[in-house]
Amino acid sequence: MKQANSNHKPILVAGPCAAEGREQIMFSLEQAKQRQVDFVRISLWKPRTKPGFDGLKEDGIELMAEAARMGINPGTEILVGEQAQSVMDGVLPELGPNGQLLLWIGARNQNHYVQRDIARVASQDSRVKLMLKNQPWHSESHWEGIVEHALEGGMLPENLILCHRGFTPDVHHPNPDGLRNVADSEMAMRVREKTQLPMLLDVSHIAGAVEKLEPVAMEMVEHAYDGLVIEVHPNPRFAWTDAKQQITWDQLDEMLANVAQAQASAERKAILA
Ligand code: PEP
Ligand code: MN
Repeated sequence: MKQANSNHKPILVAGPCAAEGREQIMFSLEQAKQRQVDFVRISLWKPRTKPGFDGLKEDGIELMAEAARMGINPGTEILVGEQAQSVMDGVLPELGPNGQLLLWIGARNQNHYVQRDIARVASQDSRVKLMLKNQPWHSESHWEGIVEHALEGGMLPENLILCHRGFTPDVHHPNPDGLRNVADSEMAMRVREKTQLPMLLDVSHIAGAVEKLEPVAMEMVEHAYDGLVIEVHPNPRFAWTDAKQQITWDQLDEMLANVAQAQASAERKAILA
């Protein structure tokens, strides 16, 4: 598949898997300010397989507002429309006219009534970008359905972003590299083409482990992804969620530089061919 995004800077969503507290988020915001990060993850509601820390919830909205006051665009997963509304009420008054708030519907949130209700709330302000992650199981038509529900809920296409976070491996979709989730970039590119929406690659939730991140990020070279989602933590080993797959900001710089270099060299080869 051709490299399509070479004229645009890739969209970068980076920051911790979960917001854990003020110190962690303030450090992340300072780091993000020194880099070209489009949205900082300050994720407040965490769907968990087993009970455990599931987010700062409403208590963390003030941290997102703080990011907005610093001129940084914050982002969080929301599980229901009511949470989207609380985040918008707390953050939008602090965002400048050019600021943006990223809300996303995560992979496990596959109730279409809920998806539509979130879209209804998010569509009330054009500074809100709604990101739709694919569902955990391998199905192109279900993924397209998520987009259709968001549109039916009132979202304008220009405020929608898609994100490929891989599919749970199964007998039909084996996992020789031992990834947490298996990417199907061919499908992601078809969905991108059909919907005409930007498609981000969630490197962290596909890789599942630090040493597997860079090979997954290299999917950017072969496919026309419009950007990346990467989990970055001040002290990954001690992260409260997804500790195995989070990296530091310095490691992020190195990985992005390697991907950019691989992309540039692929483009040079294509020109010379
Ligand atoms: C996340 O991005 O925080 C997350 C939980 O990922 P996913 O919904 O893709 O599992
Ligand atoms: Mn995570």
